[in-house]
Amino acid sequence: MVHVDVAVIGGGVTGLASALALSEAGASVCLLEREPKPGRHTSTHNSGVIHAGLYYPTGSLKARLCVEGRDLLYEFCPKHRVPHTRCGKLVIAADDHEVPALEQLRKKSHENGVPVELVDADFIKSKEPNVRAVAALWSPDSGILEAEALVKALEHLCRDRDVALVVGSPLTGANATEEGIELATPHETFVAATVVNAAGVYADRISEMLGGMPFHIYPCRGEYAELKPSRRSMVNGLVYPLPHASGAGLGVHLAKTTWGSVTLGPTIHYQESKDDYEGGRIPLEAFVEPAQHLLPWVTLSDLQPGGSGIRAKLHGPDQKFADFLIQRDTVNPRVLQAAGIDSPGLTSCLAVGRRVAELWSRSL
Ligand SMILES: Cc1cc2nc3c(=O)[nH]c(=O)nc-3n(C[C@H](O)[C@H](O)[C@H](O)COP(=O)(O)OP(=O)(O)OC[C@H]3O[C@@H](n4cnc5c(N)ncnc54)[C@H](O)[C@@H]3O)c2cc1C
Repeated sequence: MVHVDVAVIGGGVTGLASALALSEAGASVCLLEREPKPGRHTSTHNSGVIHAGLYYPTGSLKARLCVEGRDLLYEFCPKHRVPHTRCGKLVIAADDHEVPALEQLRKKSHENGVPVELVDADFIKSKEPNVRAVAALWSPDSGILEAEALVKALEHLCRDRDVALVVGSPLTGANATEEGIELATPHETFVAATVVNAAGVYADRISEMLGGMPFHIYPCRGEYAELKPSRRSMVNGLVYPLPHASGAGLGVHLAKTTWGSVTLGPTIHYQESKDDYEGGRIPLEAFVEPAQHLLPWVTLSDLQPGGSGIRAKLHGPDQKFADFLIQRDTVNPRVLQAAGIDSPGLTSCLAVGRRVAELWSRSL
């Protein structure tokens, strides 16, 4: 039977970056992805924003890995030809009532060591002439990247390092043996001394299969609209409202992609299904009000339907925050968890990979 040091379950950015870092740390690595290609799920169904790290509780993994991952990505993207831009971002106060909340966010950013600047209407106009706001936070280190290109770059680097990328191979069973965990897919069986759980919305089921700690992933859909092509020139970069006071998310925002389209979203809707991107989509009309909060001239006729994605959240709608779950499993120490990787998981992926590799190295 084939043996590897580490098997990574899931070929999104978390799994790919972990596989790459593990192989750089000297492990023989096999990555299992159930789809015919890596990166088909959350990793390519998102806003593509490189977050600067403004929002997250100070000291949390999300706060730390976002900042580390952001810096790593700004080095990685030009080196590996991933289209990206460090365009900066405005978090706006639409009227005077919102200014105190902007101040709060400025404080939080500074606590997280993230430079932001409180700017006035003239500054906003110089960046985004069509946005209506009385004040804003300017975050110069926010940016945007092409997520598909990031997935491809990570995939190529993994292949170059002889990571066995086994696609179209869902993990279907696991058994503990003396030497490790015997893993089964419909096509093969092999043994891994360590298994990394990077299965996104399926991480709870994979943990159960591996005899790991119990937790629940709450799938949470985010939907987008887009500005019609004729209106794209009205937005230059990233424009956010204040984050939801409930802690539910960063708010429906505008993002100009690296290929020039302008997305508006994502919304927040918890659902049972881990795979349903389309059923019961929100009507386009529902995007008009959040759009007008940022761009008062927008009407329904300026919008067209956009994509959607599913967040792998470790908490339901009643709770405000859950941190990334990146640790050696407390029940089965052969398992390393990289679960609950919702936003800013794209930004953090290279830092998450590093951390997973460190956890593995410590056990040698
Ligand atoms: C709407 C939305 C907007 C977002 N915007 C941003 C943003 O702007 N910036 C940011 O930093 N983050 C953002 N995120 C978060 C970011 O996209 C995720 O944190 C990141 O993509 C998670 O990657 P992942 O590899 O953990 O998960 P995934 O990409 O979902 O990868 C998990 C993989 O596991 C595979 N898998 C599942 N079960 C099995 C099995 N049994 N066997 C083998 N493989 C299996 C799946 O097929 C999948 O490919 C957003 C997320 C959403 C949903």
